[in-house]
Amino acid sequence: MPTALKPQTTSLPLDFAPRLVAWQRSHGRNSLPWQNTRDPYRVWLSEIMLQQTQVTTVLGYYQRFLERFPTVSDLGAASLDEVLALWAGLGYYSRARNLHACAQAVREQHGGEFPRTAEALQTLPGIGRSTAAAIAAFCFGERVAILDGNVKRVLTRLLAFDGDMASSAQEKKLWLLATELLPQAKDMIAYTQGQMDLGASICSPRAPQCLLCPVSELCLAREQGEPTRFPVKTKKLKRSQRENWWLWLEHEGQVLLQQRPAKGVWAGLWSLPLFDDEAALQTAAQGLHAPLETMPRIQHALTHFDWTLHTQRAELKQRPADAQFGGEWVARERLAEYALPAPLKKMIVS
Ligand code: SF4
Repeated sequence: MPTALKPQTTSLPLDFAPRLVAWQRSHGRNSLPWQNTRDPYRVWLSEIMLQQTQVTTVLGYYQRFLERFPTVSDLGAASLDEVLALWAGLGYYSRARNLHACAQAVREQHGGEFPRTAEALQTLPGIGRSTAAAIAAFCFGERVAILDGNVKRVLTRLLAFDGDMASSAQEKKLWLLATELLPQAKDMIAYTQGQMDLGASICSPRAPQCLLCPVSELCLAREQGEPTRFPVKTKKLKRSQRENWWLWLEHEGQVLLQQRPAKGVWAGLWSLPLFDDEAALQTAAQGLHAPLETMPRIQHALTHFDWTLHTQRAELKQRPADAQFGGEWVARERLAEYALPAPLKKMIVS
């Protein structure tokens, strides 16, 4: 095991920024639809969508959002239901709710214009310190550091920074080092993008390609021979198991959907009636006078738990009284207009 180094606060690799900027301009990503614009609405939208999501997945959603909501004020004026429906499938739905709340705040409190500094941007819903910095750097050229997951990985490796990222004091230390590494304002766009590109392509979590890396000569983790030891994070996420039962009821081409509560998993999305166990589903299904068909089991992974979803389906001759299930009966051809969780959409929207 190599000896742990203390962060090199006195001898930061000052060549890091110029090398990264030169590499980004010649080898980085320069033609994504949200690049080469200084429109904070477009940059913000892409930044939120790209959190925990791959570029290839985001491309279509980004396009559809801009077509439907050409400005942040259009997005703020829409209903949350419409925003959630357009977001369906991207996952992490709190992002969509915050996106809507943020657009409303920009529309109502800032006259439809995003604030122009990272500090002010951070006061908006769903915009954290790193996202605010990315918008301010890309759109207004502000000299301010970003520190998302990819950048944490690049910088902790570059500096062999072995502080525990689960500790806020250590994270604060890394923010300071990231700020000290910043280039002049004119290079901020290429530098900010360069860190993201390097983390997303060459300096990957499990197999960094140090031989291709533009900053390999400066990188202390590479020199120590064990780059994947960084970043250090002691708190491991404990995953749990969960199991639930869906009741899929159809009557004359209509499907019964219920809206999920405003808090919790899939908050605000539309779902089939969901039960904690099979017995509860059977009790609810009593009196429907229709055989239940068992559908293939679905395994769905969320951040904190693995979810097993069972489904029982029934074709009804008669619609049950509204009071029994509540919700809405939705024609099959209109299901795609509803914000459905991804695994449900896959199962019921043909
Ligand atoms: S040399 Fe390797 S570990 Fe260091 S920044 Fe480059 S890819 Fe990452």
